[in-house]
Amino acid sequence: MEKPDDTGMLISPEKRIWVAVLVLVLVWGGLLCDSDAAAFSRTPELQKELIDRDVTDNIDPSEIKIITGVFNGGDTASCVLGPFLPLQTIYSLEKQSRPVFSFSRFKKGQPFQISFVQDAFLSFEYEIDDQYRLVIKKNKERFGIARVPIQYEIREQVISAEIESNISVALKQAGQPPSLAGDLADIFAWDIDFAKDIQSGDRFQMLVEKRFKKGEFQGYGQILAAVFVNKGREYKAFQYTDTRGHAGYYDENGRSLQKAFLKSPVKFSKITSYFSTERFHPILKTSRPHPGVDYAAPKNTPIKTVADGTITQMAYNNTMGRYITIRHFNGYETSYYHMNSYARGMKKGVSVVQGDVIGYVGKTGLATGYHVCFRMTKNGSPVNPLKIAQTAASPISSNEKQQFSKTIAYYREKLMTAESLARTTR
Ligand SMILES: [Zn+2]
Repeated sequence: MEKPDDTGMLISPEKRIWVAVLVLVLVWGGLLCDSDAAAFSRTPELQKELIDRDVTDNIDPSEIKIITGVFNGGDTASCVLGPFLPLQTIYSLEKQSRPVFSFSRFKKGQPFQISFVQDAFLSFEYEIDDQYRLVIKKNKERFGIARVPIQYEIREQVISAEIESNISVALKQAGQPPSLAGDLADIFAWDIDFAKDIQSGDRFQMLVEKRFKKGEFQGYGQILAAVFVNKGREYKAFQYTDTRGHAGYYDENGRSLQKAFLKSPVKFSKITSYFSTERFHPILKTSRPHPGVDYAAPKNTPIKTVADGTITQMAYNNTMGRYITIRHFNGYETSYYHMNSYARGMKKGVSVVQGDVIGYVGKTGLATGYHVCFRMTKNGSPVNPLKIAQTAASPISSNEKQQFSKTIAYYREKLMTAESLARTTR
């Protein structure tokens, strides 16, 4: 039997934190809510400085208290920070944080940490993903907000596999986690349509980071280089971070792999209906054009925007179901129909970045099975998304060519050494 605590109630450790928080609210709530909203720093330099500066210099370390927790579904910034900061301050922080991280994107299950001393808030840290943390630090009456990379000890590993059915299975057979399939597909998402182009005999090789914290394996990091042979054609990708800190994938000649549109809005799906001007409709039993591409995928598969843009429509309609329309550059628009639900933070007017998850596969509206009907228009007229001419992002600039060559020479050697080792042990 569980031992009741001294209040005579059974309280889980997680609940106990919230009991503690509640007590703090009751004790300090009045004090904090009356205080003036703190001044905010405006320039990125100052932000950086505020984050880097140790604000605990004059504080006895034993005085600092730290609360850790994870976001529950529906938790907002005011739920979590409310006990420590006045609402007005939280709203200002929310606004100030937007360019770095939107508070509407706090995710269920992601850990956070709040530190404070006596009645004063010191900092808030939140793990955005396995690469970045959001750090909000108070320094006197000012706040610094930054997205900071999580520090890991990195080891590199080469993974090779041949595909029989799909990438995930191939990875599993090679003793690697199938989750790497998504990262690999993302790299070639502009050139290979993983919904229709993959065939038996395709193969790949990648140089991937393995992350360790205090010697303990924390999972895979970035893919540094990859070679993918699809239908006998070889695609190569090398990661390179330019002097401005922008990372991207390039081919051997320094051409960016990134193009204006992703090849498809869902990964590892199956095309069940192509773009056509005439089609027999399975439900309406009439012939009518299908100015889109249907991708069948399991319920709740993430749907990604194929390009940067702004949401112009987000609504429910008897035919299209839950759908989103996004306006891109040069008169292009894309729409995604039959969603089961929208991704968090999506609404009309929101800007999205290529690859952002905007919703999840469903069969709302007029649909026989789970799929996304993907449509593209240019200046209002339907275009076939599988046939548009793609424009590539900027290549490596000439003053970076030397550094780029050095970087890819290193990656190539790693990949080649692994391949020859594999050959000799075969
Ligand atoms: Zn369709």
